[in-house]
Amino acid sequence: MINSEFLETLSKVSSVKKTMTALPIIQQQVQVSPLVVGDDLSLRTSLTSPVFYDRDIVKLLHQKTEFVDGSLPYEEFVNRISNIDKLSLIWALFKSTYETLGERQFYCPKENCNHAKDPFKKEVLLDNIIQEDTFQVWEEEAPFHEYSFQIDIPYKEVIYSFMSRLPSIANNNQILATVSTEILQNNLEKTGTIFSRAQSMALLISAMQISGSSEGSNINPVQTNNLQELMMAFNSYVPFTVSEEFLEKYNEKFEKYIPNFYTVEKCPTCGEEVRNDFDLEVEFFRRSLFGSGESQ
Ligand SMILES: [Zn+2]
Repeated sequence: MINSEFLETLSKVSSVKKTMTALPIIQQQVQVSPLVVGDDLSLRTSLTSPVFYDRDIVKLLHQKTEFVDGSLPYEEFVNRISNIDKLSLIWALFKSTYETLGERQFYCPKENCNHAKDPFKKEVLLDNIIQEDTFQVWEEEAPFHEYSFQIDIPYKEVIYSFMSRLPSIANNNQILATVSTEILQNNLEKTGTIFSRAQSMALLISAMQISGSSEGSNINPVQTNNLQELMMAFNSYVPFTVSEEFLEKYNEKFEKYIPNFYTVEKCPTCGEEVRNDFDLEVEFFRRSLFGSGESQ
């Protein structure tokens, strides 16, 4: 027989550890409850493929997140929450489950200091990597999933117009689904990022148009919002310099929203401040893959 008093007590005890966090883009506060033994196992089984891993993480985040007025249907959760808010959820899940990133090494930036080469160690708590400037609140009037920002790049006699956006959780997973594990490894080795240039472009825009740059041009304006067409366009036709100019303008507009998780420690020898930045997605991936103690 199931002892319900036992489970009731246990569920009360475990709910104490919920972590409150703010989602800067959709501007809501949520509570995230910790991973339990069963969750950890289901994560491990999905580690063979990045897209399944991401899907599992998203499912877990959906399960563990409580909004002020209850839970959100899954479809709304992935389409109405930005991929940047997801990082705040990962932070909260990480904190409620583990509390700490463990002991980390800090290298002093002063060349003649003994800790320039021989790092000092400090434990880094999840609470300590949130700083005043970690999150930037969404500044536009329209909610992010309805907002798009047009970026025009003239090149020779053509104007490339991109409808750029802040991707949702669903957008990110959709692009991830176009990456095979082999391509992902190749991307990581060559550029140190998950997505190729073409994939990042497809993630950051919802539609693209080409038109002539002068009055007498014989190019009729055409556009697409079809993901496959966009990917083919980036892979085969759009000049590289156009993508570079696009990314520059995109970053001017949106880069401020990417959260900075970092901690600053004083060097015990010379007092110089040492800043360490953390990529929480990577940290969480490693932690759920290897467990504690091997994360450095
Ligand atoms: Zn020093």
